[in-house]
Amino acid sequence: MSNILFKKISFIGIGLIGSSLARVIRRDSLAQEVVAYARTEQTRSKVLELNLVDSSTDDISMAVEGADLVILCTPIGAYETVAKNISGSLKHGSIVSDVGSVKGSVIESIARYIPNGVHFVPCHPIAGTENSGPESGFDTLFNDRWTIVTPVEGTDPTAIERVANLWRSAGSKIEYMDPDHHDQVLAITSHVPHLIAYTIVGTATDLEERLKSEVIKFAASGFRDFTRIAASDPIMWRDIFLNNKEAVLEMLGRLTEDLGGLQRAIRNEDGERLESLFTRTREIRRSVIEVGQHIPPKPPKET
Ligand code: NAP
Repeated sequence: MSNILFKKISFIGIGLIGSSLARVIRRDSLAQEVVAYARTEQTRSKVLELNLVDSSTDDISMAVEGADLVILCTPIGAYETVAKNISGSLKHGSIVSDVGSVKGSVIESIARYIPNGVHFVPCHPIAGTENSGPESGFDTLFNDRWTIVTPVEGTDPTAIERVANLWRSAGSKIEYMDPDHHDQVLAITSHVPHLIAYTIVGTATDLEERLKSEVIKFAASGFRDFTRIAASDPIMWRDIFLNNKEAVLEMLGRLTEDLGGLQRAIRNEDGERLESLFTRTREIRRSVIEVGQHIPPKPPKET
């Protein structure tokens, strides 16, 4: 029986996320033809060498011509230009989707370029690593991870279901969400934690030399995990903060208030308050373990 979900799938940008999905599509023969548009010659030849696509091109219109599904996998700051540039070449009845980490503002910048008769199904797979580029992808990245689908009102349910099915085939669990709600949830679960990591590692970078070298030497005491997160792609994260401004600022406001409370508790030697908070946070960790979301995705070991 054929596994084919789409005849022709086009990737616009194919780094960690795009190449991981392309690996699944190739592994399980989910498309007859896979094409990638990439800016750099390096990426275009790498995806051919890895056999992730049938062809790669720097001509964005050619990449989407005749495609049944077009997936935007560039940093979200590039989405508007990409959407404008593919708009005139999209096939009637085709689906445009994306993997961007912010949904509200991204939908706004893409939706106006989607022609009548083309469906738009925004998605966000909640899976990733701090690495970039097509060589860092792996086909198990989405296993048991959520993919959040944030459909725009009036979208054909069949188109939504076809895209959701592709993510299910990649091992994902599907959740449907309103785009603004998605952005609030992600602000506190992903965006603010990244900002904290960038801040802590940034503060350490500004320390005087002797202290700085000791921070690196004794990194295992907690700093290490922050350095991993703070090694994430600078362009991708710049775009996330610029595009999820409101939700991030709202959550940062709450965090600042709570930090102030903790500062006071330490100054007043209010051990009870500290212990009560740390006990509650320990419970949260247990809940994360219970639902199986505690293990970070790791590429399988080479044999
Ligand atoms: P990545 O590994 O850095 O790959 C990005 C791809 O986009 C590359 O192929 C790159 O092309 C291309 N690109 C970059 N800037 C471009 C521009 N201005 N115009 C056209 N193409 C451009 O990034 P990624 O981690 O796969 O992330 C891609 C998307 O997935 C982002 O929107 C991000 O928000 C979302 N996402 C990321 C994660 C994560 O943890 N990484 C998780 C979930 C969702 P070249 O290689 O030719 O330079």
